[in-house]
Amino acid sequence: MKLPYAEPFRIKTVEPIRTSTKDERMKWIKDAKYNLFNLKSEQVFVDVLTDSGTGSMSSSQWAEIMLGDESYAGASSFYKLKGTISELLGMEYFLPAHQGRAAENVLFSALMGNEGQGMVVPGNSHFDTTKGHIEFRKAKALDCTIDEAFDTTIFHPFKGNIDLSKLEKVFKDHPKEKIPVCIITVTCNSSGGQPVSMQNIKEVSELCRKYGIMVFFDAARFAENAYFIREREEGYGDKTIKQIVKEMFSYVDGCTMSSKKDGVVNIGGFIATNRKDIYEKASVFNIVFEGFLTYGGMAGRDMGALSVGLRESTEYDFLDQRIGQVAYLGHKLKEYGVPVQEPFGGHAIFVDAKRFLPKVPKEEFIAQTLAVELYIEGGVRGVEIGTLLADRDPETRENRYPELELLRLAIGRRLYTDNHMNYIAAALKNVYDRRDQITRGFKIIREAYIMRHFTVELERL
Ligand SMILES: *Cc1c(COP(=O)(O)O)cnc(C)c1O
Repeated sequence: MKLPYAEPFRIKTVEPIRTSTKDERMKWIKDAKYNLFNLKSEQVFVDVLTDSGTGSMSSSQWAEIMLGDESYAGASSFYKLKGTISELLGMEYFLPAHQGRAAENVLFSALMGNEGQGMVVPGNSHFDTTKGHIEFRKAKALDCTIDEAFDTTIFHPFKGNIDLSKLEKVFKDHPKEKIPVCIITVTCNSSGGQPVSMQNIKEVSELCRKYGIMVFFDAARFAENAYFIREREEGYGDKTIKQIVKEMFSYVDGCTMSSKKDGVVNIGGFIATNRKDIYEKASVFNIVFEGFLTYGGMAGRDMGALSVGLRESTEYDFLDQRIGQVAYLGHKLKEYGVPVQEPFGGHAIFVDAKRFLPKVPKEEFIAQTLAVELYIEGGVRGVEIGTLLADRDPETRENRYPELELLRLAIGRRLYTDNHMNYIAAALKNVYDRRDQITRGFKIIREAYIMRHFTVELERL
């Protein structure tokens, strides 16, 4: 019998979490204006809002916390992390930042300053903060993801892939000076934690080189992407994760990284690149926005913990359990008939809210409606990946209705047990059993100009 995956760790410290009643939750979510970001963490039982910064650090990472060198300049913790990045990613230059979006701010400032009018940044479904930084500068993020990504019923092993003909069209339609970079997000968060194949990375890289365009990873989940390449792409089954990671990065000019994901730390980010010119340009902005070059918004101890986290998350056993646990939840939900995106993503299960709640009109925020119902049912906090997140068109100010309305259940690294997965699945099944009674959603009573999903206030219809 094939042995199942099991946690490649044992538990040394536990953090109690609280249960609550349905009546309490109905009141809390109303007070929170039906925005799950407004809930207090003690009002949540199982928190699958995000896998960002929520992972559990290992004993080796905690040991690094004590070893942290807090010197303003030249800290040994900086050099430890620089060494790890150079060894694992093959990138010579590195700038620490306090999180992923800060690294994006620095990179896009270096590439387009404050004013990106007329510029375009192609890629595979840019993450919301990436898109935010591009649109804030009045440039455009152009989504070149393959069409298969938008149909949750199709099985495609690499739904994060970029469509080369869409990308080439962007290159043909715009002068080179207007395309500062192409961004490959690995894994592709916005299309459902879906991986990009090595072949696609290589072909995108070749096409970019042909047109003289720089290519960067948005590398938040690079290790998970490498795991999928090992599992699904021919020729990689007997390679180590670290070998695959090295090859992936050999095709790009650099990356921005949110260390809160595959870095398995609670805060942090960085830019890594082999382009000295980009490093030099970005350094100036890093000092202005983040801090001196050898800490950039991170404490020395956190850089040390990140250095260890990157090594741990690129171990096969770590990824096998992590991605195995996410798939375990996916299979449970499928068993109950709940419509979920397939193949399962690396960090999260995405519930297809349009198929789950076909009676709720799209103008009433289908996935948000489902997220609220799941919270009321079991104190489980997921997140809407739908119309609220897609925001308004920056020019017309009309709502953008994405092809998919998804409820994301993102699983923290080394955070919950499989019993918590059983609990989430049971809660969602109960909502599914009463789905016919859910026919109305919400209307917006207050929203911000950009990235509205974090602070939006809603009213029940
Ligand atoms: C989380 C994330 C970011 C932004 O990183 P933060 O650390 O949250 O600022 C950017 N891109 C992707 C793909 C992400 O998942």
